[in-house]
Amino acid sequence: EFDVLVIGGGPAGSAAAIYAARKGIHTGVVAERFGGQLMDTLGIENFISVKETEGPKLTQALEQHVKTYDVDIMNLQRAKAIHKTDHGVEVELANGAILKSKSVIISTGARWREMNVPGEKEYRNKGVAYCPHCDGPLYKGKRVAVIGGGNSGVEAAIDLAGIVSHVTLIEFDTKLRADAVLQNKLYSLPNVTVIKNALTKEALGNGSKVTGLQYEDRATKTEHVVELEGIFVQIGLLPNTEWLKDSIDLSPRGEIKVSDKGETSMPGVFAAGDCTTVPFKQIIIAMGEGAKASLGAFDYLIRLEVP
Ligand code: FAD
Repeated sequence: EFDVLVIGGGPAGSAAAIYAARKGIHTGVVAERFGGQLMDTLGIENFISVKETEGPKLTQALEQHVKTYDVDIMNLQRAKAIHKTDHGVEVELANGAILKSKSVIISTGARWREMNVPGEKEYRNKGVAYCPHCDGPLYKGKRVAVIGGGNSGVEAAIDLAGIVSHVTLIEFDTKLRADAVLQNKLYSLPNVTVIKNALTKEALGNGSKVTGLQYEDRATKTEHVVELEGIFVQIGLLPNTEWLKDSIDLSPRGEIKVSDKGETSMPGVFAAGDCTTVPFKQIIIAMGEGAKASLGAFDYLIRLEVP
C-alpha cells in the first residue's frame, strides 16, 4: 500500500511525487506517458530561471530528479477508475491491476482540441501552435491567425495583437462567443481582422514551416488563402478526466474542482495541474500546484487516525 499515489507523470505529477518522497513516505507514480505535454513541446522560454529549454530535455531532468528519491514509477500505465474504501483509496489500472493507497494525487493533465485538417500535425511546432503565452513571442512582427472565437480565442488574439504585426481571427459560427467586453476590445485593435462563418480547411506550408491558411467561406462556399507565419488553434482544452466523471466532482468543462489545498470531492484524493479548475495552464503553475497538492495530502495523512 502506498501513502501517496500520484496519477500522471507531467510537471504537476513530478512535483507532487518529489514533495511526497521528501517526507519519507511510500510514494508511487502511475503515468501513461512520463513527461506529459512536455513531450510534445519544442522550445520552452518561460520556465523561470531556465532561459531556454526543450520539452524532452525538461522531461529527462524531471525524471532524473524524481528518481533520486525512492519513488515507484509505473510508466506506460493508464488509470481507469478510482474508488474510496474504508481504509483508503483504490485505483484500477487499464491492465486490471488494483493499487491501494492512503491518499491519491490526480495530475492527468489536458490535451488541446485539434482542428483535424491537413497540415496541422505536419506543421505542429513549425507554425501551428496552441499556447499564446508560450509561443506568442516567437511570432514577433509576423502575421498569425487564431482559430476560434470563444473566450480563449479572443483573449489569444488580443494578446498576440500586441506582439505580432497582424492577427486574423477565424470563427466557424456567424458570431463570436467570447464575452462582450473581450469582443469590444478585439474590435478596437487596428491590426486584427475577424472572419466569421469560415471553416478552416488546411494549414499550408513549404515543407519546413507554415506559409498560409486556407479556409472556406461557408456562406458563399468559396475558398480563400491568408498568407501568414503562424496559426494558433484555440478551440478548446480537454482535461483528461473522463475516467473520473462518476466518482469525483468536475466542473461543466470536465475540470476537477479543487480547494485551496488541492482537495477534491473524494476524501484523501487531491488534484493538481491542467486537469483542475485552477486557471492558466502552464508548466510552472502545474509544478506549483503539484507541490501544493502533495503538501495537502501530507497534511491529510498526519491527521489520519492511528489504526
Ligand atoms: P500534463 O503535462 O498533461 O501531464 C499529464 C500526465 O498524466 C502525463 O504523464 C499523462 O501521460 C498522464 N495521464 C493522463 N491520463 C492518465 C491516466 N488515465 N492514467 C495515467 N496517466 C495519465 N507551458 C509552459 O509553461 N511553457 C511552454 O512553453 C509551453 N508550451 C507548450 C507547448 C505545447 C505544444 C503544449 C501542448 C503545451 C505547452 N505548455 C507550455 C503547457 C504545459 O505543457 C502544461 O501546462 C503542463 O504540461 C501541464 O502539466 P500537467 O502535469 O498538469 O499535465
